[in-house]
Amino acid sequence: MYITVLDLSHYEIQAIEDGYRYRCPCGELCNTVAAAFSCRKCRYYSIFGGEYVTDIATGEVFGTMPTLMERESRVTDHTAQMAADQAAWKREMAENEAIEKLLVWDDMAAQYDSIDWNTTSRYITR
Ligand SMILES: [Zn+2]
Repeated sequence: MYITVLDLSHYEIQAIEDGYRYRCPCGELCNTVAAAFSCRKCRYYSIFGGEYVTDIATGEVFGTMPTLMERESRVTDHTAQMAADQAAWKREMAENEAIEKLLVWDDMAAQYDSIDWNTTSRYITR
């Protein structure tokens, strides 16, 4: 693979000049292959973090870059997992909200029960 200066943005050319030529799957540019493999941003921004690194100056790939079909399949799986996680989170939040409402009612009932109505009745004006 041949990469010409025309294929790179001004930012990428500047990064290469500064020694940051290794791109991790999330797009961060690092100064070593090892740093790009262990990119911490990939944990949040890519499902392929730690699998491959690309030298933007030469196009050389370190590690194993997933094929287009593998990418699509894993993105689909990841999207389905995210939807399932979000649904589970919403169910849990609804349960917590219901429990909180019950606790508020329990607290109000306990306060009501603690009132000595014989002494309190004198404050009732009608
Ligand atoms: Zn990254």
